[in-house]
Amino acid sequence: MEDKNKRNVVVTGGSRGIGRAICLSLAGPDTRIYFNFYPEDPEAPETERLVAEAGGAAKGTCASVTSEEEMSDFFKKVIEEAGSIDVLVNNAGITKDGLLVRMKEQDWDMVLDINLKGAFLCTKIAAKQMMKQRNGCIINISSVVGVMGNPGQANYVASKAGLIGLTKTAARELAARGITVNAVAPGYIESDMTADLPEKAKEAMLSQIPLGKAGQPEDVAEIVAFLASDSASYLTGQVIHVSGGMFI
Ligand code: NAP
Repeated sequence: MEDKNKRNVVVTGGSRGIGRAICLSLAGPDTRIYFNFYPEDPEAPETERLVAEAGGAAKGTCASVTSEEEMSDFFKKVIEEAGSIDVLVNNAGITKDGLLVRMKEQDWDMVLDINLKGAFLCTKIAAKQMMKQRNGCIINISSVVGVMGNPGQANYVASKAGLIGLTKTAARELAARGITVNAVAPGYIESDMTADLPEKAKEAMLSQIPLGKAGQPEDVAEIVAFLASDSASYLTGQVIHVSGGMFI
């Protein structure tokens, strides 16, 4: 049964890392969080547990952002249960690094499918509901490398640069319906995604960060919470860098 005082939030890739921190930063007694992840991840119930511990409610679903059918089903269930979608955070993402000349077509396709097409599909489905509501907030998790470029990450960088273009276009198309669309561009954040990087690569990244340390998932999540709050209601089409000054 719909409760109009509740804020309903969808976070893609909420089972761990930055996505989990985003679920926690948005958690509260008046917020219901729906997150997905793919493939099956034994870590997912921990996000539900931590959100419940923070006094909120979260429900995880195994469904891939690359499948229009799975995402339509996922959002349909959210709307049936919650009645609205107030915030969408397109966070799900992967890397498949390699030098451009050696990059396999399947690694290019997989990264673009998850990181960019996934955000397009979720935005398209959620925006239809938000347009009916005449309000909503969409936040895309891009990356500083989407602006700066990065050797060995042509597929990832293209997907994150594409997300910035998607953000700016969606912001212009949806503003008249009271929907804001912004991007957050994290720098080097400690998570599973960066844990296995060679020590040399980690040192090289740290040397580019004026604040001299890697960020934590919470550093990104706090900015997402601000963008999802009423305090950011006059902000749209922007890219907020959370990188310790890696990009200035
Ligand atoms: P992570 O720890 O590897 O988590 C990735 C999340 O995405 C997991 O929840 C994963 O689900 C989910 N996912 C992957 N493929 C999916 C699919 N097809 N459908 C639905 N969910 C899927 O990564 P992270 O570091 O938290 O990164 C989160 C976002 O921040 C990504 O978009 C990443 O590009 C961006 N970012 C990260 C950094 C960084 O330094 N870490 C910097 C800039 C931007 P499973 O648990 O089921 O695998």
